[in-house]
Amino acid sequence: MMTPVLAHPLTAQERAHLNSIFERALQGHGLNPAEGVLLLNWATGLDGHSPDDQLGLGQLRNAADQLRAKLVGPTVTYVINRNINFTNICEQHCGFCAFRRDANTPGAYWLDFEAILGKASQAVELGATEICLQGGLNPQAQIKGSTLAYYATMIREIKAAFSQLHLHAFSPQEIEFIARQDQLSFAEVLGQLQAAGLDSLPGTAAEVLVDRVRQIICPEKLKTPAWLEIVSTAHRLGLPTTSTMLCGHIETPTEQIQHLEQLRQLQQTALENDYPARITEFILLPYVGEHAPPALRKRVGREQPDLAATLVLTAVARLYLGEWIPNHQPSWVKLGLPGAITALAWGCNDLGGTLMEEHITTMAGAKGGTGMTPEALQRAIASIQRPAQQRTTLYQPVGDAIHAPLG
Ligand code: SF4
Repeated sequence: MMTPVLAHPLTAQERAHLNSIFERALQGHGLNPAEGVLLLNWATGLDGHSPDDQLGLGQLRNAADQLRAKLVGPTVTYVINRNINFTNICEQHCGFCAFRRDANTPGAYWLDFEAILGKASQAVELGATEICLQGGLNPQAQIKGSTLAYYATMIREIKAAFSQLHLHAFSPQEIEFIARQDQLSFAEVLGQLQAAGLDSLPGTAAEVLVDRVRQIICPEKLKTPAWLEIVSTAHRLGLPTTSTMLCGHIETPTEQIQHLEQLRQLQQTALENDYPARITEFILLPYVGEHAPPALRKRVGREQPDLAATLVLTAVARLYLGEWIPNHQPSWVKLGLPGAITALAWGCNDLGGTLMEEHITTMAGAKGGTGMTPEALQRAIASIQRPAQQRTTLYQPVGDAIHAPLG
């Protein structure tokens, strides 16, 4: 949490303005950008007010919690899934990434289809309904000179063996990579992957959708307009996506709100044009730098997430996105399960996946673990007296909800 330059109490007029923002936020129609920035600056003490104004922070938390209750009720959902990061060989060098390797260097790996199918098979035995596939950008990953053929074959092979699995795969950055390698449009790539059996896309590689920030933390990555175009094209073609933000590094409150605004506009575009798919959830991913490249880590000056600042942004994101994106998920990998459970009181309603194996953030130094059992998630949800419900990737219930014992 930032230290205020000069702490002073709110005037009656400022307090009344804040109260009016909270009242309108509770209607679920979202905040405007100026209100979002005002809330972030106030809650983190950047505007000179005391950040330990517990009454004020409690008001923010309660507003986010009330809006969560109004939009999606008390139930906390989770999905039984397996992460498969099929290669860490990557042509890019993002400033926060401890996962990537050059080919033929120590630690580099690239799973063949047999190994990927073996992991999918284990996941099915453990009750998984989803496989999440993401990897580095490996220029060697081609079949007969086609990058798209490699990715489409991966999807087809898994679907042929396990037709019941939902394949949640390939970030917008991977879609841009395939399109660039094979000189295809984003729509052609997405359409062919969809025809092969792709069910939805993770909205990762978003980081912060402001090119000033991207130029510093991931200068080789696709730019903001390309990310937005790929996600909107996916919605138009009927491929749902998630949405994410990598927070807590060099971005300003204004840039955090610009990012949320882009996500809300994407969702509004999908709704206004009656696209067959849209954003299913928002996931806040705080920066973990412990083993990440030193340049950005030194600039940030912190190795693990700032939980208090993450909770403030969690709450503001809930209020800002309102009814447009009703499902909000904290990252237990980055915050640890206790931190993620705390975030459930700041506007979140979902704990994400069991993952079974997680490499990307764990290699950066995250302490939350690499997998969770459904029972561990159910116990954690019961500890805050809220019902637990297994869900599909697209938020359909699987089985019955588990109600916490009262008292
Ligand atoms: S974050 Fe992804 S694109 Fe960037 S270096 Fe790591 S693996 Fe490559």
